[in-house]
Amino acid sequence: MTLNNADESFVARLRGLLPDAAFQADPTGFLQEPRRRWSGRGVVVSPASVDEVSTLMAACFEAHVPVVPFSGGTGLVGGQITEELNPIILSLARLNKVRGIYADENVLEVDAGVILADVQQAAADVGRLFPLSLASEGSARMGGLLATNAGGLNVIRYGNARAQCLGLEVVRADGTIWNGMSRLRKDNTGYDLRDLMIGSEGTLGVITGASLRMMPRPADEATAMFVVQDPAAAVALLSKAGDQLGESITAFELIHSQGLDFLDEVALDYRAPFATTPEWCVLTKVGVAQGQSAQAALETLFEAAGDLILDGVIAQSQQQADDMWTIREQIPEGNRRIGSISSHDISVPISTVPEFIAKAPDCLAQVGAFRINCFGHLGDGNLHYNVFPPKGRARDEFTNQREAIKTAVHDLVHQYGGSVSAEHGIGRLKVTDLETYGDPAKLVMMRAIKDALDPRGILNPGAVLAAR
Ligand SMILES: Cc1cc2nc3c(=O)[nH]c(=O)nc-3n(C[C@H](O)[C@H](O)[C@H](O)COP(=O)(O)OP(=O)(O)OC[C@H]3O[C@@H](n4cnc5c(N)ncnc54)[C@H](O)[C@@H]3O)c2cc1C
Repeated sequence: MTLNNADESFVARLRGLLPDAAFQADPTGFLQEPRRRWSGRGVVVSPASVDEVSTLMAACFEAHVPVVPFSGGTGLVGGQITEELNPIILSLARLNKVRGIYADENVLEVDAGVILADVQQAAADVGRLFPLSLASEGSARMGGLLATNAGGLNVIRYGNARAQCLGLEVVRADGTIWNGMSRLRKDNTGYDLRDLMIGSEGTLGVITGASLRMMPRPADEATAMFVVQDPAAAVALLSKAGDQLGESITAFELIHSQGLDFLDEVALDYRAPFATTPEWCVLTKVGVAQGQSAQAALETLFEAAGDLILDGVIAQSQQQADDMWTIREQIPEGNRRIGSISSHDISVPISTVPEFIAKAPDCLAQVGAFRINCFGHLGDGNLHYNVFPPKGRARDEFTNQREAIKTAVHDLVHQYGGSVSAEHGIGRLKVTDLETYGDPAKLVMMRAIKDALDPRGILNPGAVLAAR
């Protein structure tokens, strides 16, 4: 499809349609992705209302100008950044109001540009929990989180972003507004457009508002770090924890010593709970209802686990719990500073995680000698399997091996019936992976949906599906 760049005359036209304030964002922060792998192009426009988004989209539709929706810019697969054309970068930053809180219904309505930490705070202010939680929560915005169906730390208990959403407001490619801001928990009237839009990464519409589900806050929470022999013991412990503690397990994270070694290497500060760094450990959190003790629940697990736990620390204070979570939250930053050659956000069926972790290094050894940091949301079978150069070498020296590394990891994931994108989405980075590993019938249906909802191909061209 023929698309036109957002050239000076088009931008001048937009200036006649939208207030000056929509054109004042500093473009610097919009043109580079978090891992600094590549930079992008485009003209940043920041509407302040759904009507302004509608006006902008209608003008882009008429002129065949591409639009890249941009929320917090923390996406890790390049969905918010393009080098290809000179698009309009539609920043959601000025759509940043909490629209309404219905505490009795456990419902919160927000603009798509509200930052996740502010959504969490709005829920806390009325004694509720908004459970979505990830290391980028201080920057990621609700529109981007829903557009990527983000996961994070608490999926084991509460589900991913989709599970937190009751309704959406979306501006379509031609500027018409779909008002789906439902607060209903049951509504079987026709196709589920909400679930279609969630995870569509800006390729089917622009999310401008969301109606979100809040949860009761656990009355008591506790965190522990348990040393385990290997990933098989970690999976067995997860199963035991499920038997013992049911759905009170809020997080169950696997950590490898390589992640802590990287923190040391780049001098990121953390408090180690163990005298020597264990090869494998698990970081877990439980949250219980009134009248129960979270710490006692973890003590019960510790006793029941027997040999599955080699050593362990149950946090005795909020500070100690925070210190443990700081380690987990610092690991992505440590990785970023070391600089991975190739990062993989993958999932496999939980019981096959140990076998996958055992086999993957052999597959990689056929490509070269690398350092591997494998960590992540074991409770969801979701691993961040990141491959780094040997110590003292720069990742740029290995650029020509990136593709072979990725293929080695993703082929193995595919053999296990896994996913090559568990929570980050497809963006531009994984378009060929989706083509390679995706079910052919699914790809045909996706293309038909894209053509129906975005007939001129202006919405985030080149993301999720190849542009044509
Ligand atoms: C340190 C760090 C840790 C992270 N940890 C996790 C994690 O644990 N789990 C996880 O799932 N992700 C994680 N991420 C990835 C990232 O935070 C998520 O993908 C997040 O959901 C992106 O939100 P955003 O607001 O930054 O979106 P952006 O990066 O701005 O956009 C992401 C995609 O959504 C589209 N989009 C943005 N806004 C809209 C909109 N309003 N309507 C339609 N489409 C839109 C964009 O075009 C792009 O394709 C992490 C990232 C970092 C940097």
